[in-house]
Amino acid sequence: MPLNILIVEDEAAIQELIAVNLEAAGHHVLRAADAEKANDLMRESLPDLVLLDWMLPGRSGVAIARHLRGDARTRAIPIIMLTAKSAEQDKILGLEAGADDYITKPFSPRELLARIKAVMRRRAPQMTDDVVEVRGLRLDPLAHRVSGNGQSLDLGPTEFRLLHFFMTHAERVHTRTQLLDQVWGDHVFVEERTVDVHIRRLRQALEVSGHDALIETVRGTGYRFAARD
Ligand code: CA
Repeated sequence: MPLNILIVEDEAAIQELIAVNLEAAGHHVLRAADAEKANDLMRESLPDLVLLDWMLPGRSGVAIARHLRGDARTRAIPIIMLTAKSAEQDKILGLEAGADDYITKPFSPRELLARIKAVMRRRAPQMTDDVVEVRGLRLDPLAHRVSGNGQSLDLGPTEFRLLHFFMTHAERVHTRTQLLDQVWGDHVFVEERTVDVHIRRLRQALEVSGHDALIETVRGTGYRFAARD
């Protein structure tokens, strides 16, 4: 799945090298050379992942990571720190600041892509292309297909994203606000009632194979996808 990746790196040659490789892999790249520019870009729209250099002019990468983790709007964005430092102490400091992973320069483009994939799989499985299967319900993100007990199910695009999120975050209760953030995206102003409308459509689509009961209403809170009997 193509990702929006923000690169925060002050060395132009390295920034370019990373950008070229990420674009070649199908991702969309945003670039910043310091914290200020990165903040400007993130005010416009949030990236799916941030590649953050440790040594930057002005605010350091570690300080930026802490700041992103401390803000409710940016808290969930996966962060990979890029650095020339390889000392254990620095690695610990980076991870403590909230980075999801750490990659030491010089690194190969292939290694970087592998790390990105691993972090996304862990932090945002609904953004990967992995097929998910729960209790006979199967969702294939690449083919954009859903089937229940082998029977093809017809879902609209929003219902598809909603189901993908549910299946990759099963057994947890999600509030309407959380679903709006995760499925509709940041900076989208829709009413919470909209969630209920799409939940209803999703249940209807799943009725065909009897999987509608997996979408549970948790009274006063929100919704849960039941992965267990
Ligand atoms: Ca640097």
